[in-house]
Amino acid sequence: MAPTRPPTASEMLADPGVLQALADAWKDSAVSDANNRHEEGGWIYIGLLTGAIVTRRAQAGTRSRLSLGHPPWLPDHVVVGTFHTHPNPAADGWETGPSSQDEKAADYTGVPWLIRAEDSDYSTGPDSRRGGLAGSPGYPP
Ligand SMILES: [Zn+2]
Repeated sequence: MAPTRPPTASEMLADPGVLQALADAWKDSAVSDANNRHEEGGWIYIGLLTGAIVTRRAQAGTRSRLSLGHPPWLPDHVVVGTFHTHPNPAADGWETGPSSQDEKAADYTGVPWLIRAEDSDYSTGPDSRRGGLAGSPGYPP
């Protein structure tokens, strides 16, 4: 069924497909390997005809960076969020929650950014896609 509004951050964090994508990204982040742990993530879309939430993965990131600047275009879908991992442990002095860069990027892109870390799932940015489902299929204007 066609959706009437974009999902909120908390709705996405309760969606089985998003949770699976977060679990897969976490697994691929090699968190238990101190030499190879790195950020993974991608984009979250909603189908304009179906209302189904789908995800796509970005290329692997580095220890503390991931590029989410260019969501792939999916026909009849719009971007409603992003997700990525923070694989570095608090025990080593890393912040597990959203970085100031994450906060800025989420506000700039106009969609919620979801983050999985060892202690919790987090979100930052707007509560849902800015301006609703209208506008560019990528990040909203
Ligand atoms: Zn981050």
